[in-house]
Amino acid sequence: MIKNIAVISGDGIGTEIVREAVKVLNKTAAKYNHEFRYTDVLMGGVAIDETGVPLPEETVKVCKASDAVLLGAVGGPKWDKGAGHLRPEAGLLGIRAALDLFANLRPVKLFDVLADACVLKNPGNIDLVIVRELIGGAYFGKRRTYADEKGARAAYDTMLYRDWEIERIVKVAFRLAMKRSGNVVSVDKANVLDSSRLWREVVWEVYNSSEDYKGIMLSDMLVDNAAMQLVRAPGQFDVIVTENLFGDILSDEASVLTGSLGMLPSASLSETGAGMYEPCHGSAPDIAGQDKANPLAMILSAAMMLRLSFDMDEEAGDIESAVERVLAKGLRTGDIYRRHDGTRLAGCTEMGDAVTAEI
Ligand code: NAD
Repeated sequence: MIKNIAVISGDGIGTEIVREAVKVLNKTAAKYNHEFRYTDVLMGGVAIDETGVPLPEETVKVCKASDAVLLGAVGGPKWDKGAGHLRPEAGLLGIRAALDLFANLRPVKLFDVLADACVLKNPGNIDLVIVRELIGGAYFGKRRTYADEKGARAAYDTMLYRDWEIERIVKVAFRLAMKRSGNVVSVDKANVLDSSRLWREVVWEVYNSSEDYKGIMLSDMLVDNAAMQLVRAPGQFDVIVTENLFGDILSDEASVLTGSLGMLPSASLSETGAGMYEPCHGSAPDIAGQDKANPLAMILSAAMMLRLSFDMDEEAGDIESAVERVLAKGLRTGDIYRRHDGTRLAGCTEMGDAVTAEI
């Protein structure tokens, strides 16, 4: 099969981890007789430096014309002082909106061999997916920074949701749950926020709208409780569905359950089949350029791309088990390395090479 992949390496460790993921993809393509054609495009700080904007038109065009998009990470202190629309992160929000990527899937799985890297004493079985609405809510609502009538500096953001925006993300979560254990927790703040009350109402309307969903065990949970339950008893969760801002925060919290942000992949999907695959972490400027980044979240994101955009289940499974075998052999990047436990510290390149060799 021939597939065209738009590649946004971005900033900081983005280029380092994407390089490793491409190695793994090339080995997989060779083994299964596929051809992956890559087109490198600019986004984020590097795009600001070269073109003056974080998301050049050309990037949107190439991404729209590709079968999937692979993204490293964007951002860094160099560009932090720019106006909001000229920051690297504006590129990220822009590409999500341009491709209509409303559904963000963030699997959180603790590999047995990494139980020691988990912050919990007795983590138990952690295998959940956070389904986060990605192009609505406070990150996309009306906002303003201004001086009020008394001269005080003031700012606001608005969290707006329409029923259809909630409906479509909830359906994604239900469909996913039907392939898993069938347990869905919808997270909101319905005791305080109007947008959350609508969220909860629509969630149950969707649930009651089809016999297909009757096998699902659905419950609501307030976001403050969910934040607590995630570290108290993460094993109770299978699929969590929530709005943009809550999902952003909860998924970073959940990442420490897997040992490191560097282990957490993600997929962002549209209704029409577009897909963008990226790790949950950022550009990690503190370790950029030092061959210290963990490339596994990026590599696991590439596996998600094969499964969800290209229907290549076997190939995706091959990459995932290669990652597991490399970890089982004791190789660790700095973020998941614990001294004195018989494991060996490796750099980003060595980790990528090891996974590639296991395919
Ligand atoms: P970050 O995720 O980049 O880093 C947080 C911490 O985790 C750092 O200590 C970093 O070294 C570590 N870390 C992250 N990924 C790692 C990996 N693969 N291997 C080893 N360690 C890893 O978050 P931050 O420091 O808050 O943000 C840095 C920049 O990234 C900012 O400009 C931010 O806006 C941007 N950012 C971008 C994205 C994205 O591109 N999707 C997401 C979040 C943050």
